[in-house]
Amino acid sequence: MSNTELHQLGVAELAAQLKSKEISAVEAAQHFLARAKQHQHLGAFVSIHEDTTLAQARAADALIAQGKGGRLAGVPIAHKDIFVTKDFPTTAASKMLKGYQSPFDATVVTKLAASGAVTLGKLNCDEFAMGGANENSAIAPVGFDAAQPVRNPWNTERVPGGSSGGSAAAVAARLAPAVTGTDTGGSIRQPASFCGITGIKPTYGRASRYGMIAFASSLDQAGPMGRSAEDCALLLSEMCGPDLDRDSTSLDVPAEDFTAQLNDSIEGLRIGVPAEFFGDGLSADVRAAVDASLKEYEKLGAKLVPITLPRTELSVPVYYILAPAEASSNLSRFDGVKFGHRAQKYADLNDMYKKTRAEGFGDEVKRRIMIGAYVLSEGYYDAYYLQAQRIRRMIADDFQTAFKDCDVIAGPAAPTTAWAIGGKSDPVSNYLADIFTLPASLAGLPGLSLPAGFGDAGMPVGLQLIGNYFSEGKLLNAAHRFQQATDFHLQRPAGI
Ligand code: GLN
Repeated sequence: MSNTELHQLGVAELAAQLKSKEISAVEAAQHFLARAKQHQHLGAFVSIHEDTTLAQARAADALIAQGKGGRLAGVPIAHKDIFVTKDFPTTAASKMLKGYQSPFDATVVTKLAASGAVTLGKLNCDEFAMGGANENSAIAPVGFDAAQPVRNPWNTERVPGGSSGGSAAAVAARLAPAVTGTDTGGSIRQPASFCGITGIKPTYGRASRYGMIAFASSLDQAGPMGRSAEDCALLLSEMCGPDLDRDSTSLDVPAEDFTAQLNDSIEGLRIGVPAEFFGDGLSADVRAAVDASLKEYEKLGAKLVPITLPRTELSVPVYYILAPAEASSNLSRFDGVKFGHRAQKYADLNDMYKKTRAEGFGDEVKRRIMIGAYVLSEGYYDAYYLQAQRIRRMIADDFQTAFKDCDVIAGPAAPTTAWAIGGKSDPVSNYLADIFTLPASLAGLPGLSLPAGFGDAGMPVGLQLIGNYFSEGKLLNAAHRFQQATDFHLQRPAGI
């Protein structure tokens, strides 16, 4: 295999070639580092340290030579800059954490490293994972002097989605075979959909949140993003598992090998199609691609079942009360005392807090802190926060009613394909675009997005699959069977 083709390999193929020593981990790392440089105009990476990566790759080669090394031995990956890493700085794409060096690795990072993965660097995202277009990063990507929006490799004038936009762009441009992302209200599924790749958010509590910089703790989950369901299954199997001492919401459910179910038949699989996901807000091009992919599922033996998720519309106001409420509490730790930015000049302690936070946080983060503080304040708590909690429970119950009639739920991941950079300046229009990913997030259910074709101007469309708790294997199996019958996931942007 010539080195120029190495980046076209998926995780499974790459891992096999590394194990058989057809290529070395050092060669693979060098190849992807060179690609990252070649495509740095996308703004996908916020930090790269070649020496660190190559040292990890040499260590992986040494293990492979001894016949050791885990399932991902030598496979280069990259992490969203929300996961703390001791070998790379961690910023959460915020000025508040510029230059911050963590003394430890996030559990997900530790687990992937234990499996032999080599870290290429850290990936751009929206500040503190707040956003859906990756236009809110406050950190200059590698190769730039100032912060930039991340660009979509399918059309560099368009957004890659967010908040894991750097992650999605990196996979779509083949700058890494697979990466990590986080999903609080859709940040794995929506950018996966915008960039024509596959991504899965597991059941809440399956992947440890230890070392994941908190946005909204009752919603935040880590997950993999890659080209195919098979690659995501490989990574997710290594990422999950109990971490009870370090994350109080970690579930005591053993790690699972999600690749084991990949080839199960989906004959007779009941796919619920929620009417509310196909209303007026859905653009015609996305609807056409999603409808065609549902037909493909019928050809594969699945049965489509009409279902209803009646509170879908309420998921937007509910999420945009609860997530900011939790964010305002989580972000109170950034006060200039323990870590990160501190204002240079201040009169007294209160002034130091104020100036530090005014300088350190970007506009969207400040907006959420204000909304959060408002909905939690006396007098408004009952009217907003408590009501939102109640409706959250009803949304979760609606899913359980739906799962009596179906095994998985399918619909669009987002109402449109990727929009133009700068095209949605009003925050509310950004929030509304999250409507199809928020319900599963609020219910804590696993959700996946897979490439399902192309819409207007050749932009990718994602099909979302939502399963009941702990059905990641079933979702990945359903996605894998689709990918064996179609080639949308193998298509790539021009020039990539
Ligand atoms: N777009 C949503 C938001 O801005 C989701 C973000 C996420 O999942 N991290 O909150």
